Amino acid sequence: MITPDTAWGIVAEQLSPLERVVLPLTQAMHCCLAEDIRADRDLPPADRSAMDGYAVRRADLQQSPCVLCVTGEVAAGSPCRQRVKPGCCLRVFTGANIPPGADTVVMVEQTKECDGVVTIRSDVNSASNILRRGEDARKGTVLLPRGSRLGAAAIGVCASVGKSSVKVHRQPRVAILCTGSELRPIHGRAGLHEIRNSNGPALSVALAEWGFPGARFQSVADQRGVLLAALRRALTSSDVVLFTGGISAGSYDFVRSAVETAGATIHFHGLAMKPGKPVLYATAPSGQHVFGLPGNPLAALTAFHEFALPALRRLAGHPLEACRPSWSLPLAADVESRGGRVRCELARLVSGDGRLAVRPVPSHSSADLASAGCADGVIVLPPIRKRFTVGEPVKFRPWRPLP
Ligand code: AMP
Ligand code: MG
Repeated sequence: MITPDTAWGIVAEQLSPLERVVLPLTQAMHCCLAEDIRADRDLPPADRSAMDGYAVRRADLQQSPCVLCVTGEVAAGSPCRQRVKPGCCLRVFTGANIPPGADTVVMVEQTKECDGVVTIRSDVNSASNILRRGEDARKGTVLLPRGSRLGAAAIGVCASVGKSSVKVHRQPRVAILCTGSELRPIHGRAGLHEIRNSNGPALSVALAEWGFPGARFQSVADQRGVLLAALRRALTSSDVVLFTGGISAGSYDFVRSAVETAGATIHFHGLAMKPGKPVLYATAPSGQHVFGLPGNPLAALTAFHEFALPALRRLAGHPLEACRPSWSLPLAADVESRGGRVRCELARLVSGDGRLAVRPVPSHSSADLASAGCADGVIVLPPIRKRFTVGEPVKFRPWRPLP
């Protein structure tokens, strides 16, 4: 059986970002840029006051006492044409352009104005309080390289350089098919022989949390024909199909045969990983990606974060190396692993002595969804060792974006 990293390599080879589309800026949240965003002019475009105060000539501050004539004012948003002459100053406000002749802004707190004359305290420091033209970026500088994801700050950057629409990669459309004749909807009763479908809502929310909102889920009975029909329907309207359950060797596990009957190519089925051993990955004839995630809820979420989410990121246009991020963090407690396969153990982020660390969250089995509720992700332990000691750095795979 192949390792999870080899499996990801196989998936990655099949992926390239989806086509480019132009979207109004405010509808491009979560999307990845398919163009560089450059400064359309110097930023700031002119010397600006960083303070409310008086625009003066530094040379005039040498007089003691320093008393200057206020000859006018410049508010933010008004062009300034009046020159500051020796012995004079202009009242200025934060964001206002610096009038010609001035080279310093004295903070209003360091002054006293009366009858058109301002007295400036002698202990004024040397700060100019001026934001210089182009000090943030020169015209033409790349502010956001292609591949950047558009979150709040990036959307703000685009707006600041006049990009009312942006070229981005289309977001992948995802269908979630939860297999299992035992599955019941969340509402209503579930008999002792039935369970509520928790994978559907969990995966759909995991997708939304990571920037792929709107994925629908559907329960599908363990019947060959029903499952195949559901897959065919999903393939007509999705770029990625996520199955949960039905991928093991049981008599009612029909996902593999449905995938094959639909003409898809299976790239792997089975991994040296726990949980997540039966994971399947295939590509359909029209290029859609099909992931068979385990039915057990913990295993489903683990395999989702190891393979499906990184694949979606790539389709959405993230640079390949940014698709499957992990952090190296010290262990906050010893961990015993049974070895043999790569182990993904639930873990929580903790901070002690100002340092971030990961504390394992005990879980009973790959069905133990309750423990996952207290976890921030998993630690990925290599099979070569059975004991990992407190303080040792381990690979942590986050299951939710940074708080
Ligand atoms: P399977 O992989 O289909 O053999 O399912 C493994 C276990 O996960 C079984 O106990 C299933 O009942 C359970 N399971 C499968 N799908 C779901 C689901 N959508 N929500 C919660 N549990 C599930
Ligand atoms: Mg099943």
